[in-house]
Amino acid sequence: MRVAVLPGDGIGPEIMAQALAVLQRLALPLELAEAPVGGAAVEQTGDPLPERTLALAREADAILFGAVGDPRYDTAPREKRPEQAILGLRKALGFFANLRPARVHDALADSSTLKREVVAGLDLLIVRELTGDIYFGEPRGVRDAGRLGREGFDTMRYSEAEVRRIARVAFEAARKRRRRVCSVDKANVLETSRLWREVVSDEAKRFPDIELSHLYVDNCAMQLVRAPKQFDVIVTGNLFGDILSDEAAMLTGSIGMLPSASLDERGKGLYEPIHGSAPDIAGRGVANPLAMILSAAMMLRHSLGQPEAAERIERAVAKTLADGYRTADLYTEGTRRVGTEEMGRAVLERL
Ligand code: NAD
Repeated sequence: MRVAVLPGDGIGPEIMAQALAVLQRLALPLELAEAPVGGAAVEQTGDPLPERTLALAREADAILFGAVGDPRYDTAPREKRPEQAILGLRKALGFFANLRPARVHDALADSSTLKREVVAGLDLLIVRELTGDIYFGEPRGVRDAGRLGREGFDTMRYSEAEVRRIARVAFEAARKRRRRVCSVDKANVLETSRLWREVVSDEAKRFPDIELSHLYVDNCAMQLVRAPKQFDVIVTGNLFGDILSDEAAMLTGSIGMLPSASLDERGKGLYEPIHGSAPDIAGRGVANPLAMILSAAMMLRHSLGQPEAAERIERAVAKTLADGYRTADLYTEGTRRVGTEEMGRAVLERL
C-alpha cells in the first residue's frame, strides 16, 4: 500500500508527524514516500506542485495531505500561490467528490459555541463538488472597465454530467446513512443553480429510497446553526460547499477535529484535515493533530481496505477525548490542556 505523504506548510508538518506515528504503530505494510507541496515546494523548486510531487501522488494508492498556505506568498501571482497545489492535485487526479463528515463527539458537546442540546449527537455529511464551479470556470481575470476603473470577474459553471456524478455520490452515501439528501443551491438567482436543481432532481428518480429536499444556500447557512440535526447528507457545489463545511465544522467545536476525503471515480483518494495551515499558531506546538489523525483513519477505510485499523484509530481518539485531553482549541475548564505532541502520544498510548 503506497501512500504519498505531503505535509505542506504551517502546522502541516507538525500534525503530519503525529498521524505518521499512529500509522507506524499499526504495523501495516505501508510504503510511505514524502514530497514537498505548497509554500515549502515553492521555496525548493519555485512551483507549489512540482512534477516529482505530482508523479508521486499519481503512483500512490492514497495521498495523505497536511495543509498548504503561507502568508509570505499572499501577494504572489496565482500560479505561485501555495493553495494552487491542492486545487491542482484535485484537478489532475480527478478528485471530484469531497466527503466531509461533521460529527460531535460526546466528550466535546460542550466545546461548541452552540448549546449542547442543539449539537449533541450531530452526525452529518457534506458532499461537496470539488473540480468545477467558480473556482475553475473560464473566463476569469481583471480587466479595464473604462470609467469604472478595473473590474474582476469569475465564471460560475457546471455541466449536467458534473452535477449528475456528484449527486450520485451523495445518494449512495445516504444509502449507508439515514437516507436523506438535501441539495443546496441558489436557484432563485443563478442559472447554474437552476440547472443544478433540475439535474439533481432527475438523478434522484434512480434512488427512490432516498428522500431529497432542496434549500437555498442562505437558508441552509441559517438552518445549520438553528437546527443542524435535521440534516443527514448535504450535497452542494464547490463554492457553497467550501463555506458551509467550515460552518458545519464549527458546530463540532473545532476546525481541528474534522477529516475529509476527496475521491475519484475509482475510490482512490486524497485525505486531509479540512483546516488550513494555521500560520497564526504554526511552530508553537499547540495545533490539534486529531483531524490529521482521523484523516489517516479515513484513508485506511476508503482507499486501503483496512476498516478495522480505521476503527481502532477512531476509538483511540474518542477515548483520548473522553479521558479529558484537549489541545488549546478545545480546552475548557476541568480538562487537561496538552500540545500537539502530547495529544499524539495520548492517542498512541490508547491505540
Ligand atoms: P485555517 O484553517 O488555517 O485557520 C483558521 C483558524 O483555525 C486559525 O485561527 C487557526 O489557528 C485555527 N486552526 C486551524 N487548524 C487548527 C488546528 N489543527 N488546531 C488548532 N487550531 C487550528 O484557515 P485560514 O487562517 O483562513 O488560512 C490559513 C492558510 O491556509 C491560508 O493560506 C489558506 O489559503 C490556507 N488554507 C489551506 C487549506 C488546505 O490546505 N486545504 C484549507 C484552508 C485554508
